[in-house]
Amino acid sequence: MINKIPQSIEDFQNGLKNKSFSAVDLVGTYLSRIEKYDKDLNSFITISKEKAYEDAKRTDRIINEKGQKAFEEYPLLGVVISYKDIYLTKGIRTTAASKVLEGYIPEYSGTVVKRLEEAGSIMIGKTNCDAWAHGSSGENSDFGPTKNPWNKNYIPGGSSSGSGVAVAADFSLAAMATDTCGSIRLPANYCGVVGLKPTYGSVSRYGVIAMASSLDSIGHITHTVSDSQKIFECTKGVDGKDSTLKNSQNFIVGQNLKIGIPKEFFEGGLDNEVEKSIEEARKVFEKLNIEFVEITLPSTKYAISTYYIIQPAEVSSNLGRFDGIRYGNDRNFFGDEAKRRIMLGTFVLSSGYYDAYYSKAMKIRTIIIKEVEKAFEKVDAIMAPVAPTPPFKLGEKVSDPLKMYLTDIFAATANLSGIPSLAIPSGLTKNKLPLGFQLMGKKFEEDTLFHLGKMYQNKTNFHGNKPQGY
Ligand code: GLN
Repeated sequence: MINKIPQSIEDFQNGLKNKSFSAVDLVGTYLSRIEKYDKDLNSFITISKEKAYEDAKRTDRIINEKGQKAFEEYPLLGVVISYKDIYLTKGIRTTAASKVLEGYIPEYSGTVVKRLEEAGSIMIGKTNCDAWAHGSSGENSDFGPTKNPWNKNYIPGGSSSGSGVAVAADFSLAAMATDTCGSIRLPANYCGVVGLKPTYGSVSRYGVIAMASSLDSIGHITHTVSDSQKIFECTKGVDGKDSTLKNSQNFIVGQNLKIGIPKEFFEGGLDNEVEKSIEEARKVFEKLNIEFVEITLPSTKYAISTYYIIQPAEVSSNLGRFDGIRYGNDRNFFGDEAKRRIMLGTFVLSSGYYDAYYSKAMKIRTIIIKEVEKAFEKVDAIMAPVAPTPPFKLGEKVSDPLKMYLTDIFAATANLSGIPSLAIPSGLTKNKLPLGFQLMGKKFEEDTLFHLGKMYQNKTNFHGNKPQGY
């Protein structure tokens, strides 16, 4: 058992290099922590214990054979990662947190899982999430809700609820997740950890169960921005399987960076503590000579209605393949939220309503894209809240889907326009619940976000805050 759990890839690998611990020790420590604490938090659906030990033994063997060189060959050697349960993992059950796929064991792993394995990482298990990634709170899982380790009466944020909790509660060093409208950034924000939603088209969707294909982004959750960058370097780039992918050019971050503050994100309804925390973060950047300018994204108010037309339309098509013949159980096993989205999506695409809803939403999406492009003529990044409030209580919004949907109001812009966004923790509320902000960037310019995020984390230690009792 390791007493002090390493909090970054660097600490992790230094420990392995110095032989302070072995990969088998690390895996054993995480597994016993999961066993001890996760009964309550419910962040995992499946633990891949056997595979984790196999991978750990292999890691220790490689280190013994190759020494330091092993870490050059395998950039993520020994790094323990968990995966949202919508990543297909060969031979390991993948459920999408739905009873439809309760016993489904994939024949293959997707691009990202393979790339991370080739980089030397260790898979520890599959994390809980809202079924089919539909949700903002983690309560819509057929395997029970996940709870926030900062306070078990509160939601951890969704849909990648288990991935946020797994990192915050030290059940894995990093966790893979997906963001179709905030599902990486929101749980990262609500659990006090870092979440990256990459540019649409930078990381392969191959082998990840599709939610809304024009919006799905494949990213991850970590403690530090630096780790986020290291994982992104291993996952990004063309794979010959996802036709939306493009290799980004090596990007050199400019000098005299400017951050835009979109005034529409701060108008009415924003929680006081969230707003204050962002002001404080702004001051940290200003001390580092980053200039702030006010910008405008006038169509922000339409983003959520636009998203909740386009997304169910795509969901209604994507969930068509789960017909009980090809995969898993029959369609009666879909939960209420999936059924709601299938019906909404079918409606907005149906003859007579297509023009009034789907086609109009696509036009507004184009306007939002143009507004974002215009804003980026003036600034290198945009700073905004991730959500209008801090974490809310379990049960508070479950019976009111519209209220739940409004949680995503500040997340939608990045997904509708395809830009990257990085969520970073920035403190705690009076009640000791995490606060944070997001930095959105130009397409394929994640490096600017990493640069700014690292500057911020070098000056602050909010990422060092830990929930008590774990
Ligand atoms: N909360 C949003 C929804 O319910 C987004 C989910 C996601 O990003 N996967 O659709």
